[in-house]
Amino acid sequence: MTERIDCVVIGAGLVGLAAARALALAGREVVVVEAAGAIGTGISSRNSEVLHAGMYYPPGSLKARLCVAGNRLLRDYAATRGIPFSMVGKLIVATRPEEEAMLAALLVKGRANGVEGLTAIPAAAAMALEPALSCTAALHSPATGIIDTHALMLSLRGEA
Ligand SMILES: Cc1cc2nc3c(=O)[nH]c(=O)nc-3n(C[C@H](O)[C@H](O)[C@H](O)COP(=O)(O)OP(=O)(O)OC[C@H]3O[C@@H](n4cnc5c(N)ncnc54)[C@H](O)[C@@H]3O)c2cc1C
Repeated sequence: MTERIDCVVIGAGLVGLAAARALALAGREVVVVEAAGAIGTGISSRNSEVLHAGMYYPPGSLKARLCVAGNRLLRDYAATRGIPFSMVGKLIVATRPEEEAMLAALLVKGRANGVEGLTAIPAAAAMALEPALSCTAALHSPATGIIDTHALMLSLRGEA
């Protein structure tokens, strides 16, 4: 007997589960095929769990646009589903005066990308935030956070 379904997603990592959820919510019948014994045992369970803000990518690139938009969407999604996340923020620092031009360029790029709240802060302010730090200049990114990717994957699977 031949089985017919609308969509097959190969791989139950973060990307596959998110795709399966989107397809299911669009009314498609979806089967997710996973080689391992459980979901999310690949790269998705071996990453840093950082919710990136998007300041590193070239302005106008797909990576820049998706990262900045995805940051907001993921925060909203996590907040409404009770998925643990925390907007701990990130400091990007110059440890020598010669590095400060790179920091300034990153600020321009981040703002061009629409990164929320990215600002240059004095070295003293950065060192007050993180006393173990030694730097000559810093950027503060309040839109960088951390997220529980396992809880995220379980939520995506449930909704798929
Ligand atoms: C060291 C490191 C740190 C990272 N840190 C971050 C971070 O802080 N923040 C961030 O956003 N991203 C980070 N990333 C990137 C992020 O983890 C990946 O982009 C994401 O997990 C990729 O998800 P995926 O679903 O494509 O891949 P995977 O999670 O690897 O899922 C692919 C799945 O497909 C299955 N599969 C493969 N081939 C087949 C097949 N033929 N048949 C059936 N199943 C198959 C695999 O078993 C696996 O489960 C990091 C990556 C690395 C390596």
